Parts: sequence; C-alpha cells; structure tokens
Amino acid sequence: MKAGVILPLARWLACAALALSTSVLANNPVDPAAYPRALAAADSQRLAAVIEDNLAPLAPAVPAIIGTRGAITFERLLGGTFLALDSYATAEKHLRRAQTMAMAFDDPDDAAASAVSRGEIAILTGNYDRAESLSNDLAQLAARANLPWAQATAEEYLGVVARRRGHLDEAQAHAQRALALQRALGLAPGTATALSNLGTLARDRGDYATALDLFRQALAIRERTDDQLELTLRNLALIYRDLGDDATARDYFGRALDVARRHGDSANYAATLGTWAGFLVDAGEFAPALAAAEESLAVSSAIGDRPSVGFDVLNSGRALLGLGRLDEADARLHEALAIGRELNQHEILAHSQVSLAEAALARGDAAQAGRLVQAAFADPQAARYKPLMVEVNELREKIATAIGKPAQALQYAHAAAALREDLLGTRASRRLAALESQYARTAADQQLALANKENQLQAARLAQQHLQRNYGIIAAAGLGAVLLLLAWRFLGVRRLNRALAVRNAEVESQRSALSQANERLQQQADELYQAAINDPLTGISNRGHLLRQLDARIADCRRHGGDLALLLIDFDHFKHINDTHGHLSGDRVLVAGVQALRQWLEPGDLLGRYGGEEFMAVIAGKRAADAVQIAERLRTHVTNALEGFLPGGRDTVTISVGVAVLSHLPASARLENLIEAADKAVYAAKSAGRDCVMLHVA
Ligand code: GH3
Ligand code: MG
Ligand code: MG
Repeated sequence: MKAGVILPLARWLACAALALSTSVLANNPVDPAAYPRALAAADSQRLAAVIEDNLAPLAPAVPAIIGTRGAITFERLLGGTFLALDSYATAEKHLRRAQTMAMAFDDPDDAAASAVSRGEIAILTGNYDRAESLSNDLAQLAARANLPWAQATAEEYLGVVARRRGHLDEAQAHAQRALALQRALGLAPGTATALSNLGTLARDRGDYATALDLFRQALAIRERTDDQLELTLRNLALIYRDLGDDATARDYFGRALDVARRHGDSANYAATLGTWAGFLVDAGEFAPALAAAEESLAVSSAIGDRPSVGFDVLNSGRALLGLGRLDEADARLHEALAIGRELNQHEILAHSQVSLAEAALARGDAAQAGRLVQAAFADPQAARYKPLMVEVNELREKIATAIGKPAQALQYAHAAAALREDLLGTRASRRLAALESQYARTAADQQLALANKENQLQAARLAQQHLQRNYGIIAAAGLGAVLLLLAWRFLGVRRLNRALAVRNAEVESQRSALSQANERLQQQADELYQAAINDPLTGISNRGHLLRQLDARIADCRRHGGDLALLLIDFDHFKHINDTHGHLSGDRVLVAGVQALRQWLEPGDLLGRYGGEEFMAVIAGKRAADAVQIAERLRTHVTNALEGFLPGGRDTVTISVGVAVLSHLPASARLENLIEAADKAVYAAKSAGRDCVMLHVA
C-alpha cells in the first residue's frame, strides 16, 4: 500500500531536514532552558516554513516535469513531511492538493490516503466539522472504490468526533464498526486504535472492567508494534486512577512518559504530559501539576493542537485553584470553557464547568456555584458520564451544605454513593476479579499464541523495514549521486577554468612578446627603409629615391596634365672649400646648405641629393612657371644663410642653379631628358661665372 511507503519516507526526510537544520536554528530567541520540547516543536514549525518557502515556487511546475501521478506523490510526500514536522496547516494544504489531483486523475487509493491524513490533522487541530465531512466523503469513496482500510479509518474518525461532541452511543457504533473492519483486514495498528477508542468510551461510562479489557488488548498489540504505545499506557494509568489504585496509575504514567519522550511525537508527548498533569491535580500535588500543565501547554500551543491546549488550560486552571490562586484559576477556567465551546468538545466543557463551580464555592459564592452546576449538568445525557456525575454530585452536596440545606446535601451524598457503588462496588469488583482470573487462565495460551503471532509480525515488520530501508537507500543514493555529480561537475569546471586562466596568461604574454617583436621589426624595417631612401649626411632623399619620386611626378603630370620644374643645384668651387677648410667643414657646409634650401621650399616640393655636392629640387604644380624666380631666391638665401659660416671669413659659399621646366620640353620628354636639360643649364651657369641661375631653353 502506498500510504505505508510514503509516510515513512516523509518522516525520514523530515528527520534528515531537522538534523541538517540544527545549526541553522541554533539562535533561538525563546529560552531553551524553559521547555526544550516546546522549543523543538517551534523549531520544526520554522523548519517546515523554510521548506515550504523553498518548495512552494516549484509546485506549479511539478506536474509538467514528473506528470500528474508524480505530482500527486510529490504533494503527498510533502504533506507527510509537514505532518511529521507537526506543521498542520501546511500539511493540510499539500494533502488537499494531492487529494484533489488524485480525484481528478481517478486515483482513489491516493485520494483516500490523502483524506486519511487530512482527517488526522482535522482531529488534531480540533476541527471536528471538517473531520466529520472528510470522513463522510472518505466513507463514500471507500464504498465506491472498495477500499475497506479507508472505510475502517472513516469509521474510526467519525467515532472520535462523536465522542468529543459527547454523543457516546453514536461514537460506540462507529468504533465497533471500525474494530470489525480492522480485524477483518488483520491490520494491527488500526485494530489497536479501535480497541483503545472503545476502551475510552467504556471508561466515559464508568464501565471499568470493559475498559480495562479493551486497553489491555490494545496494549498487547502496541507493545509489539510500538505504535502509539504511550497513549495506551496513559489510558491504563487513567483506568487505575479511576479504580483508586494510584500506585499502579503512577507506574503506567511513568512508562507512558518514558515512551512519549523516546518517540518524540510532539502531539502524543503533550497529550501524555497533559493527562499526567490532570492526575497530579486529582492527587492534590498542585505545584508539579501546574508545571506539567504549563509545559504541555507550551508544546501543544507550538504545534497548534487545539484539543490539547484546551485540556492544558483546564488543568493549569485546576492546579491554580488547588494552590488557592483563585483569580488566575478563574481566568484559566473561563479560557478552557471558551475553548471547549469553540471546539464543541464535551469533556473540556464539562470539566471546566465543574471546576468553575468549585472555584465559585472556594470564593464562598455557593449560590453562584449552584447555578453553574445546575445549568451545566441538568441534561439527562450528562448522566451517562458516571465518573463525572460522581464528582458533580459530591460538589452539589458541598454546595447544599454551604447554603444550609442538609436534606438536599444528604440526597446528593446518596446519589454520589450509589454511583460509586455502581462503579467500584461489589458488583464491579466481582467483574474485575473475574476479568483478572480470566487473564490469569488464558495467560499461558496467549503466551503461545503471542509467540506465533510475534514471529509472523516480526517477519512482516522485517519485510516492511526492508522496503522502507530500500526506499531510504534509493532516495539517499539518488541525492548522493546528484550531489556527487554536481561536485564532480563543479570541480571539473573549476579545474578547466584554472587551466584556461593559465593558458590565457601564456597566450597573453606570448601575444605581448609578439607585439613587442613586431614593433621592433617594424622599427627596424622603418630604419632600413629610411636608410635605403635617405642620404646619411643630409637626411634628405638619396639619388635613387629622388629619381623614383621625380619619375612618378612626371608620369602624374603626363596623366593629369600639370607641370613641374627641376632645379639642379651645384655648390661652387667645392673642391677648393674642401682643400682649404678640410673635408669635415665641407660636410658641414653641405648640411647647412640643405637646411637653408629646405626652409625655402614648400611642402609639395621635392629635395634630394643627386650626388657629391649636387642637389635637385622639384617645384610642383603652377609654381613651376615661377621656377627661375624661386631658384634665384634659393640661391641668395643659401649664400646669406652660410655667410661667415667658413672660418677666416674670406670664402663665401655660393651655388649655381640650372632650371628645366617639363612643359618647355617635348611631350615625349622623359626623366633623362629633363635631367639632361637641367644639367645643361647648370653648365651654362658655371660658364657664366657661377653664383647664378640659368633656365634651359630648348
Ligand atoms: P665647380 O665650381 O666647377 O663645380 O668646381 P668644383 O670644385 O665644385 O667641382 P668639382 O666637380 O671639380 O669637384 C667637386 C668636389 O666636391 C670634389 C669632391 O671632393 C667634393 N665633394 C663631393 N662630395 C663631397 C662630400 O660629401 N663632402 C665633401 N667635403 N666634399 C665632397
Ligand atoms: Mg659638381
Ligand atoms: Mg661644384
């Protein structure tokens, strides 16, 4: 059955999450010394809120990812987890979704299992109307889909609700049907619950022999299954209290509390501790009773277990009454009464009314006490609760005495005694004794039967544990594999990133070395090129470069029209300058002369060394027409610039310039023809006595 797998898996997840969260939730504002169990319950509420906050955004996407059946299981798993964490409202939300989806998907098994858990929540939170309507729906579904286990649970819940509302006969009928169904199914936990519920109903009526018999049968089962054992031990303690055997009652309470602490189920712990508080009040131990009630109240408040809260408030009120703290007691008892009304829970209502009347009597207001009892217990239905009616009649006796009506007091005393006789008198004692001997007689038979049953149960439990463990292992292995995969991927990506970073750094350093080498190569190429095209002494274009440039200019003029003039510049008597002032001074004259020429030329013009002390200037464009004037200005400028340049002051540096204009030559004229023309003009200038400009005339 799916319910058998999902709930343990959910508990397992909740426990794992709780263990993981301990460090997260360590900083708790509540004083942990006060009630550690209340604190733990509050912690699990917070943990549930954290889980819900993180999972809620995923919910709408779930059906698309894992399909409707998967989504139903997912919601049930969440519901089970939150139920295990005592987070009832959140659990209810997920289980409701699971049930709705399962109904729409025509999956009665899952729908019924969800409804069963929802019913448990409704009863725990005291929402009896919802518990009733859920159980009725569940019963119909169970009948339609033939699910006897769901039918049994529906009957069980309907019985609990009826009893809490004070409808003992109706409760009895449901509980008996539940027992029959559970027995037919052979389900031990359900059978124990049905027996226990029937036992409680018998105790309500004061039929202690039947109650004891039923509780013992439930105990025999629960001692083996360990399921809800604390509740049966508590019920037995209550029976022995009612029978006046306080020592045995204390013994059972001790065992019940041990089991409750060991189980760690907050709701059952609160229920057990709260009942123990009630016992202590009855025993007149008010201070410890108050302490136990307060702790139980802290736990049941933390998880929102309303019925438990009601009992805890009632018991703390009764303890305060015993301690003589009447105002506080009154406030608590009124609060309990309000909760009893809110939940419409008979037991809380009845006991808070009795206690309020006792409080009134303690204050000396016997009239008020009388009115309270009269109003509360006039209903003949109340007479069915024999143990309670003993208390009520004893109280009535006290009230009658207090208001000076001894005859009435005696009447109530008789009524109380008759009821007690009925409950504990010879007839009841005989039945109890018969029961005891019956137990003794059948003890050996039972022992044998138990041994057989034990073996069967053990095998069944082993199989179930095996299944649970397998699911646990699969879930853990799945989670582990996902984590490992993620860690492996993460480490792989990190390793890859590191390697990439190293490679990037290498590439970067290689790139920068390469770019530096490129720069150097470029620089060297530039230097080589400059050396190839320039004259090392003067820094202007050398002969080769100069002639290539000039050739290109001529071609350009031929293509696009335009003109240019070539000026061939020759330093006069340079041999003499060298001879007189030395070769180095000659070099300096050439450098300074070139500098002067440069100053006078325009950016588009060319200047280069033709060879030795001979230079060429090319005048571009329209200015070619003024080439002779320009050459004249160059000549005077060079002479002026170099005036007094040579030591001694006797020699003056002069130049002779031959001018040839391209447009003056035939259209077929080429570079050689232009140079030849300029050369002829220079020769003419030399012949004319030097230090002058001559234009070549064709
Ligand atoms: P002219 O007036 O007829 O041109 O007489 P010149 O002495 O200038 O002509 P010539 O062609 O007879 O001599 C040129 C001289 O220029 C010879 C050579 O030693 C000198 N010369 C050529 N190149 C350089 C150079 O780079 N540096 C120096 N100091 N002298 C050079
Ligand atoms: Mg010369
Ligand atoms: Mg010369």
